[in-house]
Amino acid sequence: MARSSVDPQFHTIIEPFRIKSVEPIRFTTAAERERALEAAGYNPFNLHADDVLIDLLTDSGTGAMSSEQWAAMMRGDESYAGSRSFDRFEAAVKGITGLKHIFPTHQGRAAERILCGAALEPKDIVPSNTHFDTTRANIEAVGAVAVDLPLPEARHPEVLHPFKGNMDVDALRLLLEEDRDRVPFVMLTVTNNSGGGQPVSMENVRAVSALCRRFGVPLMLDCCRYAENAYFIKLREPGYQDKSPREIAQEMFGYVDGATMSAKKDGMANIGGFLALNDDELAQRARNLLILGEGFPTYGGLAGYDLDALAVGFGEALEEPYLRYRLRSIEYLGERLLAADIPIIQPTGGHAVYLDAGKLLSHIPASQYPAWALSCVLYLVGGVRSVEIGSVMFGRQPDGSEKAAPLELVRLAFPRRTYTQSHVDYLAEVLLHVGAMRDRVRGVRIVEAPPVLRHFSARFEPVDGALIG
Ligand SMILES: *Cc1c(COP(=O)(O)O)cnc(C)c1O
Repeated sequence: MARSSVDPQFHTIIEPFRIKSVEPIRFTTAAERERALEAAGYNPFNLHADDVLIDLLTDSGTGAMSSEQWAAMMRGDESYAGSRSFDRFEAAVKGITGLKHIFPTHQGRAAERILCGAALEPKDIVPSNTHFDTTRANIEAVGAVAVDLPLPEARHPEVLHPFKGNMDVDALRLLLEEDRDRVPFVMLTVTNNSGGGQPVSMENVRAVSALCRRFGVPLMLDCCRYAENAYFIKLREPGYQDKSPREIAQEMFGYVDGATMSAKKDGMANIGGFLALNDDELAQRARNLLILGEGFPTYGGLAGYDLDALAVGFGEALEEPYLRYRLRSIEYLGERLLAADIPIIQPTGGHAVYLDAGKLLSHIPASQYPAWALSCVLYLVGGVRSVEIGSVMFGRQPDGSEKAAPLELVRLAFPRRTYTQSHVDYLAEVLLHVGAMRDRVRGVRIVEAPPVLRHFSARFEPVDGALIG
């Protein structure tokens, strides 16, 4: 990948910004972390943020805003209807997406809920490369069926593919031939968050779009990480080297009929989202639902100043020095881990490094949640908070039984513009240390758990009395 520096002869990754306002992070001792983790029932979600040194729980809404965004917030027009802030927000979104009706929402799942409420009936089917969990939940909440059609390669962490987030076009064709009448729209998630933050190629967007047009089915983009995806296309897809991320994003949106967005990702802000639609009739239904649940269509659950922060943020997400530094920094951490034989999903995605805990801790059976144990050990050893994406998150079946998840992963998601390269070097040091003591890590068992979404609040204990033997 291109070097993240001014001149190709220099290899140091530097942040393309300097820092104007700082927020201290708190150092803790190993004994303090041990007490905090025990009090949290060995669940990192229950930790207090003050007890965390580097917080990689999520990249959602956790990024730093720029001085231009803070300045724009002072221009916020808080008029209930027809505010200037909305005009700037709408112009920014239209300038990138070219879509006709733009509705602000308080975050991505609100856009999904409105889209599903306006377009779906019970028993409908919505195919995607991979649905994000809130998208799936909103589809299922109206009685419809969410279907994932990822590439076969996406199921294998070590298999290299430049666009591992692509949709399986043949599988989509089969589904549409069989069940076209039950499919009100198809979705494509860029980048494919649940599939490891892997990008989707322009060729795949084009093929999916052509297929949708052939069957007369609208195509919606879950565009939370549209900018990261655009930069991957520039780096990896022939014919795009000389295009700007903005031009690439514009082309991609040109193939779709609508989009849902969590602006807590590539909106570079702490809250916000939108629903964008071309179809007038669908937009009318969406507008009614928006008013019912979010607010008047020119603010949709956000303050005027939020709209202004986003109007600036959408453009900043597409700036090349920023994207180069972000992707390169994550790739760099991946390289350090691979060099030390620490297994990860390859290649690294746009917003996170995914550790393959099933492989790293192969002595711990899935029934003792190796990824959960690893996530706890990262906190104990280094004060790092991560998230398990494995059998705790996905293992409980609707009938109450347990089934091992296909992969036991720990995700290290990077907030935007928040941590520096020295934080990344520290992380590498912690991870290498944990990698060297992998044989001593022990599993956990669940002590108490709610019936649904148990990972948020379940309590655990180490099976052998301690996490590290
Ligand atoms: C975060 C996310 C969402 C949901 O957005 P929220 O703002 O958290 O409601 C939907 N899709 C993808 C791919 C996401 O990453």
